[in-house]
Amino acid sequence: MYSNFKSHLEKELTNIKEAGLFKNERVITTAQQAEIKVSSGQEVLNFCANNYLGLSNNPELIDAAKKALDNRGFGMSSVRFICGTQDLHLELEKKIADFFGTEDTILYAACFDANGGVFEPLLTEEDAIISDSLNHASIIDGVRLCKAQRYRYANADMDELEKCLKIAQAQRFRLIVTDGVFSMDGNVAPLDKIYELANKYDAMIMVDESHSAGVVGNTGRGTTELFNLKGKVEIITGTLGKAFGGAIGGFTTGKKEIIDMLRQRSRPYLFSNSIPPMVAAAGSAMFDMMSKTNELQDKLHNNTDYFVKKMIDAGFDIKPTQSAICAVMLYDAKLSQEFAAKMLDHGIYVIGFYFPVVPKDQARIRVQISAGHSQEHLDRCIDAFTTVGKELGVIK
Ligand SMILES: *Cc1c(COP(=O)(O)O)cnc(C)c1O
Repeated sequence: MYSNFKSHLEKELTNIKEAGLFKNERVITTAQQAEIKVSSGQEVLNFCANNYLGLSNNPELIDAAKKALDNRGFGMSSVRFICGTQDLHLELEKKIADFFGTEDTILYAACFDANGGVFEPLLTEEDAIISDSLNHASIIDGVRLCKAQRYRYANADMDELEKCLKIAQAQRFRLIVTDGVFSMDGNVAPLDKIYELANKYDAMIMVDESHSAGVVGNTGRGTTELFNLKGKVEIITGTLGKAFGGAIGGFTTGKKEIIDMLRQRSRPYLFSNSIPPMVAAAGSAMFDMMSKTNELQDKLHNNTDYFVKKMIDAGFDIKPTQSAICAVMLYDAKLSQEFAAKMLDHGIYVIGFYFPVVPKDQARIRVQISAGHSQEHLDRCIDAFTTVGKELGVIK
């Protein structure tokens, strides 16, 4: 039975390798943080984690997790509605709602699940989902699970969105869906304009704040803070796996009735395990920290401004960014891979992206800045970019 399938898979895997798209995993032998060690023994500075606030290895969060581990055990062995809800889960849901200025929150094992389980329970074939073309894979999959009519507009293109909204007047309800920050360019969704159009054409809004929560806005409340729209969009989804500690967990937060319905009907919530108590407790400790001080957001914003300015001064072509993602444009796939390899020789871990992850001739190196980076870390990264950039003829 298996031998035909085995040779089929081997052929496919060879195709992936020959196309240069095979993903190898680099093995880290330390905690996730700015300075890491990889399995070769090399010590490198990490500029490709989503560890935007530097919390992945934060002592206060580890302490909160340890306490919950001792007091509340290792796992829940249950979905929420059978016996998988501790007070810790409810506390975290409330803190997430307070953070975003929303009415209620529902937790998931990951934001992938939050997005996978948000559309199908809420909308039917009578309704419309209008989605940005660069939305995350989990939104695309979630939309596929739902019978609503699908519309797609080019990234952040408000004329196209308006056209979709006009046609979608034929449907009963309309939901506009967008990432808050798009992960390849680091641009934010034009939520102010989306909000205007939503009002004009009677649509609701969902924003996935996975790359923006903790990062965008003066206090890291995300794109609704940046555009002064706190509490005004119907649905926000997000992850605990990026800025917010980086462990695991996702959430949907927003209007009360929407969250109530998701608790009744959202399949990844109903049929998948609760997050472990230690993750819930550490999450709560993290939101407590955010409500007490803005130190990490301030540091992240200063670090990002510093890095972008120095890189532009050095002569690099940097995509305009409003997040902690900084795309260093190289426009050549092979060059992006060579550049990233040489950066690693200099002890800097960054990733080169090229087609089909980004459009053809838009190859780049993506740098992700963290509040966990010191100025010395940033300077070492900029120095390495400058040296390699001169060596490869990217800058003068
Ligand atoms: C990372 C990411 C997700 C997935 O989050 P997980 O919690 O890791 O599943 C979903 N949406 C966007 C926009 C993301 O960037």
